[in-house]
Amino acid sequence: MQNAAGILDTYERLGWKNNDPMAQMLQLRRENPKALGELVILALGRPLKHTTFIDAALDLMDDDTYIATVGAAWERVQQGASSDLLSSILDSACLQYPLVYASDWEQLLSILHTGDSGPAYQDDLAWRALDARTVNDWLTRLEHDTGAGTLGRKRAIALLRSRRPDAVQRALSRLFPDPADAQAASWLQLAGYCAHADGLRMLHGAQPLHIRFSAEQRITMQADQPSWRRAVHQAHPTWQSDAPPLALAHMGGSITSTCGLCHQPLHRLLSLAQPALAGIASETALEFATCLSCQGWESDGPMFYRHDATGMPTAHPGQQRSDALTPDYAAEALLEADVQLFTAPARWTWQDWGESNGRQNLSRVGGPPSWVQSADYPACPDCQEDMVFTMQLDSNLPQDGGAEWLWGSGGCNYTFWCADCRVSGQLWQCT
Ligand SMILES: [Zn+2]
Ligand SMILES: [Zn+2]
Repeated sequence: MQNAAGILDTYERLGWKNNDPMAQMLQLRRENPKALGELVILALGRPLKHTTFIDAALDLMDDDTYIATVGAAWERVQQGASSDLLSSILDSACLQYPLVYASDWEQLLSILHTGDSGPAYQDDLAWRALDARTVNDWLTRLEHDTGAGTLGRKRAIALLRSRRPDAVQRALSRLFPDPADAQAASWLQLAGYCAHADGLRMLHGAQPLHIRFSAEQRITMQADQPSWRRAVHQAHPTWQSDAPPLALAHMGGSITSTCGLCHQPLHRLLSLAQPALAGIASETALEFATCLSCQGWESDGPMFYRHDATGMPTAHPGQQRSDALTPDYAAEALLEADVQLFTAPARWTWQDWGESNGRQNLSRVGGPPSWVQSADYPACPDCQEDMVFTMQLDSNLPQDGGAEWLWGSGGCNYTFWCADCRVSGQLWQCT
């Protein structure tokens, strides 16, 4: 077996040509899991660009090693170091362990402000870990710091992304002095809120439940994957975890309700006996379904369904045609299977679709969404209020007949819920 330094030596010499650093990293993890920290720290001293086997090593470290590793990277940045690799490590920390920045939030803000070596695109997610004292201090500063080109705007964005309702409201008025500014609502959605008669309303929950797929589903899902990805999935806590199931759910197949556009049976996405366990505001069971043939292809935007007292969906009257259309492509239903919902370790409460890069399980119920593009909570067609995010399903879901379902070119589907109207909405995004 190669040790951490050996893997990097070989990689520097050969790159990916006749060399498999991903397999070597996985081997290292099996034999000495703590050595993944050493691998990443040593890589910082080498002239390496951002690379996928280092990303995977970060994901697969145990929590203690991860916290120590991102801590060491942050210290280097605080001392003025900068590199692609440092940026990508700190980027991952914004998602998995934003508390690393608690040693100096002000410095994070100024690093991001000057654009040096700071996290590249996840930075705004770090602010959710801001503590109450810093929030209060920054709110005071916000009032004195109104000039253009100062930290004021960046500080306001950080406060908005802290997701603390009092700070969100004040930061928003700093960013958009005119409350009628159309952009204000988009920024509010970015922070996971919408404006409501009684103040702010949260658009997603705090705690996701990951979907643990059945053995039969996993066989199909892994069949076409390269062996390194199968190995990463096998080791990743979002796919495999000892956590006991918190709830059971049923996925796939068709239901008796029909699509309002093509009049074919709807495809079941997930049926939940007790949605409240996953933080969904419904006292009855819920059946989330859609038409895989029509959604996003034949529909103009999201598809909506009204749910009856037993939780069964019917196509929203606004999306009912009297004459059936023929979709360009008639999709097979998802493979029918019993799945489990479980709580993954806290590092995986927030996940990013791009940052995951095919390593992580993004199929989850509740918690914050992992947008492929920008935040987009549809308005309920009945009450016009923004709908609450309740579930996301990633691509590569096994279908009847052995194929794998892709949302568009391979994106993610988002399910929304209006508890007052008992309406669900389905919307996918892809790159
Ligand atoms: Zn249809
Ligand atoms: Zn509604």
